[in-house]
Amino acid sequence: MVRHERRTQTIHRVVYRELVGEIPEGFEIDHTCTEKLCANPRHLEAIAPAEHHRRTRERANERCRRREERRRIARLSDVCTSVYPESRATLSGALSGPDFPVAEIGHQMRLFAG
Ligand SMILES: [Zn+2]
Repeated sequence: MVRHERRTQTIHRVVYRELVGEIPEGFEIDHTCTEKLCANPRHLEAIAPAEHHRRTRERANERCRRREERRRIARLSDVCTSVYPESRATLSGALSGPDFPVAEIGHQMRLFAG
């Protein structure tokens, strides 16, 4: 929170107003990069609360889906790498990244299996 124009407000709201434009009445600022502390004006979007809630829910669902995917790949990795040890590097590389290219891993696994 920062003190700006005699009001205490969040830094991203100040940045948005100063560098992007007015925030419509009742609108909230969404961090499109999902990093709550970010104040990069390119990552800020003024949206209606209903849309903000919808995006927040969608992102939470996406996190759950990825967590499940990660567990599934971890199980797959134990089973598969016991047979094809070379595939461990591919899988652990994919698991440590921000994205989990399951289709690509599946493709690689088929190549190892092929
Ligand atoms: Zn950001």
